Amino acid sequence: MTEERNRSNWAGNLRYAASEVYEPESIDELRQVVAQEGSLRALGTRHSFNRIADTEHAQVSVRRLGGEPVIDADARTATVPAGARYGDLAIALEEQGWALAALASLPHISVAGAIATGTHGSGDRTGSLASSVAGLELVTADGSLLALRRGDPDFVGAVVSLGALGVTTSVTLDIEPSYEVEQHVIEGIPWAHVLNDLTGVTFAAHSVSLFTTWRDAETIDQGWFKRRPDRDDSLPRDHFGGSPAEGERHPLPGISPENCTQQLGVPGRWLDRLPHFRLDFTPSNGQELQSEYLVPREHAVDAIRALQGLAHRIAPLLQVCEVRTVAADDLWLSPAYGCDVVGLHFTWEQRQTEVEGLLSTIERELEPFAFRPHWGKLFMVGDVSARYPRAADFAELRRRLDPARKFDNAFLDAHLPR
Ligand SMILES: Cc1cc2nc3c(=O)[nH]c(=O)nc-3n(C[C@H](O)[C@H](O)[C@H](O)COP(=O)(O)OP(=O)(O)OC[C@H]3O[C@@H](n4cnc5c(N)ncnc54)[C@H](O)[C@@H]3O)c2cc1C
Repeated sequence: MTEERNRSNWAGNLRYAASEVYEPESIDELRQVVAQEGSLRALGTRHSFNRIADTEHAQVSVRRLGGEPVIDADARTATVPAGARYGDLAIALEEQGWALAALASLPHISVAGAIATGTHGSGDRTGSLASSVAGLELVTADGSLLALRRGDPDFVGAVVSLGALGVTTSVTLDIEPSYEVEQHVIEGIPWAHVLNDLTGVTFAAHSVSLFTTWRDAETIDQGWFKRRPDRDDSLPRDHFGGSPAEGERHPLPGISPENCTQQLGVPGRWLDRLPHFRLDFTPSNGQELQSEYLVPREHAVDAIRALQGLAHRIAPLLQVCEVRTVAADDLWLSPAYGCDVVGLHFTWEQRQTEVEGLLSTIERELEPFAFRPHWGKLFMVGDVSARYPRAADFAELRRRLDPARKFDNAFLDAHLPR
């Protein structure tokens, strides 16, 4: 057991209340920890911005469990340690000629932590990282091991788990043969073009991110188009009414692009292009906060228009806003459950009180559009159960796997009460 006090999350906007963090080095040791503790929460790489991973009792990290990815070429899956970081996993897969369909913007997050919150990249034809999960193993409240595979009745409830069902030890992910990606940044795309033909823009490449600071009412600052030459058509000659960037860019205007993945349409390995930021750049505590609201695709244009009406209030607190897309899945607590969604993401200045005040306003404006907040980012809305048609089934699964409420915490009590 490691005892550490005053530990913070990555952004440094919160200190965990947990007095202890266990870092077991074997599954047996982990099973003992889980069986003996009355209350605990699993901890990943600490990249969430809210108290989802926190507790006043103990936390447990699986980062020391170790192990190498085990590839099943026939099944096209890789079974990986749950504490692995996506960036390290991607290197190991690439060395053997394999790839993942999606990565988040930052490769430093753990597999278990990312899938537990429904973390996603971008792409009209690409689901969240959790949608690539074909199986997982977890230690449940009584210390026993549970293996679930796609097709098992509880599987769809247990992938985006919020850490509420147990401690995941390994995850089996869908893989595909390695592929190349070209990254094109286009500047100054008119909002009018985007809002008239959102799908025409977001469908144009394997992964598309639209960045705006909301300081220019007429155009978005940058569109990042991550194109698969083996599948995607060339980008349209009119560049959606914008212009190709003449050099490398950082999503935040005026910041050096040295930490960003390679652009200018140069083809390269999927793992070096899908994230926005390079794995070999070690991010320090980010002077930022993040929020994201995912809305069903049919409401996306109206939701963006609602944000445009708040631009004068958003811009002073904002570093950058990113619009992305995620394909529908069937995972009960996934923000993309049952429908294709558009993510409206905000990277904020680290002024939490002011940001939280504005989040309440943003949530009021987005309420007609059936938003679901990203589980790992800041949001103000309380109980979100009504936004998830299978929330009652998830509550039943929790009662069955964790009858003594070992994995409950204040975050779950507030946002997903049993
Ligand atoms: C700079 C930055 C960029 C980001 N980019 C994106 C992005 O592109 N797309 C996106 O969707 N999100 C993004 N996020 C959010 C991030 O992906 C999520 O917050 C994610 O959950 C972080 O994973 P983690 O390993 O740090 O988990 P933590 O924050 O440590 O924990 C998150 C949840 O996972 C659970 N958990 C962790 N490990 C286990 C385990 N072994 N078993 C069971 N449950 C477990 C915890 O209990 C908790 O509920 C970003 C965050 C940052 C800081």
